[in-house]
Amino acid sequence: ANELRFQTICQITERQPVAPKVPSRLEDLWAVDVFTLNKMQACLPKEVFRSLKHTIQTGGKLDVSISGIVAAAMKDWAISKGALYYAHVFYPMTNITAEKHDAFISLQSDGTAITEFTGKVLVQGEPDGSSFPNGGIRSTFEARGYTAWDVTSPAYIMETDNGATLCIPTVFISWTGEALDKKTPLLRSNAAMSKAATRLLKLLGHTDVASVNSSCGAEQEYFLVDAHFAHSRPDLLLAGRTLFGRPAAKGQQFDDHYFGAIPERVQVFMQDVEEKMYRLGIPAKTRHNEVAPGQFEIAPYFEAANVASDHQQLTMTLLRNTAKKHGFVCLLHEKPFAGINGSGKHVNWSVGNATQGNLLDPGDTPHANLQFLLFCGAVIRGVHQYGPLLRAVVATASNDHRLGANEAPPAIISVYLGSQLEDVYEQIKNGDVQGSMRPGLMNLGIDTLPEFPKDPGDRNRTSPFAFTGNRFEFRAVGSNQSVSGPLVAMNTILTDSLTWVADRLEAELGEGKSLDAAAYNILKEVMEQHGAVVFGGDGYSAEWHRMAVEERGLLNLPTTADALPMLKTESIKELFVKTGVLSEKELESRFETYSEQYIRVIDMEAKLVISMTKTLIYPAVLRHLSEIAGAIASLKTIGLPFETANVELISDLTSKMMTTVGELSSALAVHDFATTEEHMQYCAKTLRPLMDRVRGYADALEDEVADDLWPLPKYQEMLFIK
Ligand code: ADP
Ligand code: MG
Repeated sequence: ANELRFQTICQITERQPVAPKVPSRLEDLWAVDVFTLNKMQACLPKEVFRSLKHTIQTGGKLDVSISGIVAAAMKDWAISKGALYYAHVFYPMTNITAEKHDAFISLQSDGTAITEFTGKVLVQGEPDGSSFPNGGIRSTFEARGYTAWDVTSPAYIMETDNGATLCIPTVFISWTGEALDKKTPLLRSNAAMSKAATRLLKLLGHTDVASVNSSCGAEQEYFLVDAHFAHSRPDLLLAGRTLFGRPAAKGQQFDDHYFGAIPERVQVFMQDVEEKMYRLGIPAKTRHNEVAPGQFEIAPYFEAANVASDHQQLTMTLLRNTAKKHGFVCLLHEKPFAGINGSGKHVNWSVGNATQGNLLDPGDTPHANLQFLLFCGAVIRGVHQYGPLLRAVVATASNDHRLGANEAPPAIISVYLGSQLEDVYEQIKNGDVQGSMRPGLMNLGIDTLPEFPKDPGDRNRTSPFAFTGNRFEFRAVGSNQSVSGPLVAMNTILTDSLTWVADRLEAELGEGKSLDAAAYNILKEVMEQHGAVVFGGDGYSAEWHRMAVEERGLLNLPTTADALPMLKTESIKELFVKTGVLSEKELESRFETYSEQYIRVIDMEAKLVISMTKTLIYPAVLRHLSEIAGAIASLKTIGLPFETANVELISDLTSKMMTTVGELSSALAVHDFATTEEHMQYCAKTLRPLMDRVRGYADALEDEVADDLWPLPKYQEMLFIK
């Protein structure tokens, strides 16, 4: 009998939950571990503080001469918080966070040691990052990668059981200045977008225009599974998802999890995570159960995109690490369990500044409407023109399980505007703006467009890219992903569109047109050329899949193998090069890196499917069969008949399973591919289906084999025992 599985269940039911802490007051927690502007102001000379603050708030160049003073102040603060080490934190082209730790130590000539942290080591570091993916940018003779301080994201103290470390967010670049990370392009895309947006705002007549920044609020979905279960499943441990497992009789159909109270053990965990987030200045705001059993969500209040992106990485780290303390494993994979919903990350995004506010807020004055319609129109144009890019930046092996699986948005990128806004743009396109205009004011008057009541209730859950009142929500992002890639894509396509709008506006104004008339013409053109991307219907329906492709000319890119090669198309290359966000070489290196990751994941999972079948499932089935065979033989000796159909079914499933495992093994041995694209297609079209077939047989057997012989924790146990 499979003792381990039952012991596991006993251990879990006897588990003593971590005792809940008395919640601390927010004021006692908020940003206590962050080197905030306030703390800098308190400890830096006035001039130095002013210079640094200017760089942080306007994105201007850092005055390197002040770095020594800042470093010394930062070190004193960190040491007062118990830190002995500092780390340059960077974000390589994987979805993880990397750190290189160094001690605050300097050896004197007399042999004594002092704590030291110079401006030079604050500003620049040189981790031995040669093991991070670089997609061919760094060959061995130029293997050096550098980290450089990102002043716009605050330094903080990370407490672990082994002590505290001062963490300094940095970019990671090659010695030739090429981006090797996710932060560099995000900073560049923000700067490019700001330039284009401020230009347009000035054309619209604003004289006081502050720099524009993008903002992001990311909703993170995740699963919690008891650590005992996760540790007895090699697939959860290595792949982060179940490669086998028959969906439980009870799934999410009763919605009792979604609407139920958060289980106490989970609540204690959430509180712990949130306290840690508050200490790090991450504004955790919403928590709730999600649709699937065992699934939850946490969302912060939105922040500047660059900071939000770093905070999102930290949130994932905190979720994983804190889960361990509470006897859980936190699964950030997009599809840990078949048959129930997977996890996504909704990336809420808008752009704005200190002088004009949120530029995607329709506001309630007609003048603001004009400006809003142009910014929103620019987004529509960008999503249509560069839809394949938006698809490519959410393409990972794990997210393939989710996109298009009728629980998450389809792999076709379209925009949802809500019925009212869709109607306004439709009127503009038809050249017949009625809206709620007052009679007598029919002069093309954008000025007289209706007010848009914010209507967050008007939601279409099936759209990958939805306008939600004062922002867009990109819903196709994977739960495991860094939000940087999606933010870079959104900022960059907006940059391109705003530049186009500004060029057109300049031309029309130059011809003597009024601002209203010019804007109106431009919007009409946007809708004529790009209106095909606007869709408010059911994105899951077969009809949409047909219509999108056949009538609207949108691309349906179901797998990563289809989506990533889009990064190599001319129009996307041009987009990145002309906006200065990525050079051709950098873009190429991203394609190589992400393709390699995709291939590696599928290769690893395929190997795991083979070994788990051979060493866990097959032996269990054989034991089961031999028990039955013994029983049949005994029954025969006493002259009782026995129906053997069931035995034959099991034996048949088993032999098919093992034959397919053999096919998968042979398929894995194929290595000669002419191109990366071909290799990816092979993973998508040959390996994945074979893995699914093995799983199909194994899952059918799970329903036949004696429960006490089944070697893997079952879905019903993992999802419902807490
Ligand atoms: P939902 O209804 O989609 O579950 P939530 O309230 O859970 O909405 O999450 C919405 C997210 O959008 C939050 O992180 C919120 O701070 C963020 N958000 C709100 N306004 C903006 C904005 N202007 N720009 C970016 N993010 C925003
Ligand atoms: Mg949402």
